[in-house]
Amino acid sequence: MHHSATGNRRNRRVSVSALSPHTDKPSATPDAASHNMDQIDCIVIGAGVIGLAIARTLAARGREVIVLEAAEAIGSGASSRNSEVIHAGLYYPRGSLKAALCVHGRELLYDYCEARGVPHQRCGKLLVATSRNQVPQLERIIARGKENGVLDLIRMSAAEAQTLEPELACVDAVFSPQTGIVDSHQLMLALQADAERDGAACVFRAPVDTIEVDHGRFRVHLGGQTPATIGASCVINSAGLQANALARRIRGLDKRHVPPLYLARGNYFSMSARAPFSRLIYPMPNEAGLGVHLTLDLNGQARFGPDVEWVDAISYDVDPQRAASFYSAIRAYWPDLPDDALQPAYAGIRPKLSGPGEAAADFVIQGPAAHGVRGLVNLFGIESPGLTAALAIAQRACALAGR
Ligand SMILES: Cc1cc2nc3c(=O)[nH]c(=O)nc-3n(C[C@H](O)[C@H](O)[C@H](O)COP(=O)(O)OP(=O)(O)OC[C@H]3O[C@@H](n4cnc5c(N)ncnc54)[C@H](O)[C@@H]3O)c2cc1C
Repeated sequence: MHHSATGNRRNRRVSVSALSPHTDKPSATPDAASHNMDQIDCIVIGAGVIGLAIARTLAARGREVIVLEAAEAIGSGASSRNSEVIHAGLYYPRGSLKAALCVHGRELLYDYCEARGVPHQRCGKLLVATSRNQVPQLERIIARGKENGVLDLIRMSAAEAQTLEPELACVDAVFSPQTGIVDSHQLMLALQADAERDGAACVFRAPVDTIEVDHGRFRVHLGGQTPATIGASCVINSAGLQANALARRIRGLDKRHVPPLYLARGNYFSMSARAPFSRLIYPMPNEAGLGVHLTLDLNGQARFGPDVEWVDAISYDVDPQRAASFYSAIRAYWPDLPDDALQPAYAGIRPKLSGPGEAAADFVIQGPAAHGVRGLVNLFGIESPGLTAALAIAQRACALAGR
């Protein structure tokens, strides 16, 4: 068997070996189709943090759920290629999904990490203006944070910020005590374990090829080495960078509802020596990202990034030549960054719904009211703060799916 499945201890067993071989011949009737296929309630596509959070929510509500993942393991996409920062909710326009789901999701996430022993730390972050002309932007972000319900921001003079972080250079700052860091892989393992405990199955090496909508039900065709077809009443497309392309392969969904996708790679550099900071340091955000910030992992090791590199294809190689722009960006707030301190680390790709020079787009979480297909939810453009917001996004997606 080429697909490998985990989970399903309590509910009805759903295993790929039980699925009918995929045939391109359409079944004569929906009834015939359901006789030939394993038929389950919910299929979640993608085992990133979003798909796993959705599967956990569905399974906890007693729903039969199977997660189909193209890769061999959980979290091989953006969910393991990010800054692992739990965002407070400062940056996003009032009323946006990003603002609401970040603020709600952050609280849910801290509670979840406490309850499940997921390594995390509420270390706080300093958002800094490094020149006088950035101060109005800092003030706008503080105002936006307040509008979003982030009420505990502490405005600091440069001298006050420097008592916290003596090596910091800035002209003005704000401290966000609710910002933190989380071990994203341990988070995903906990979500997967919860989902499986409640009966969900995760199936790996199971790339979804096409989906047919037929009389209110779905036929989900798997490609890969062992093609198969599964019938479902509900499909949640949380395929990250592939979500838009996959939605275009749903026969029965009007393609007008699928937004264009732009890829913005974010590269990271790391330091082998310890950086003399114990809080996250963020410069002012730019057009497509939050600026090359200093984040810490849970061992206190610093990494810097992500920058913004618009790309046409998915590749995760970090060009060492980009170091020059990192040194200058970092030295704006840490002038004593030693020469030769940085090494290329890793990269992640943001699934953006707005292109270069356009205003940042919001998350798009589309249910039947938006596209007219009962039981279908598509998640598009789940870039930052998707990790922070995952548990809140899951609640929303399940509600839209009528589950
Ligand atoms: C550079 C960068 C930095 C970030 N920093 C932060 C941060 O600090 N804090 C924060 O809150 N958020 C951050 N984010 C955002 C966060 O990482 C994402 O929002 C989140 O990880 C998205 O999770 P996902 O499950 O939607 O996508 P993914 O993790 O990409 O998962 C999608 C999964 O779907 C699978 N898949 C794709 N196509 C198919 C198919 N046809 N069939 C089956 N499976 C399929 C893929 O293999 C993949 O495993 C950052 C993102 C990036 C790129």
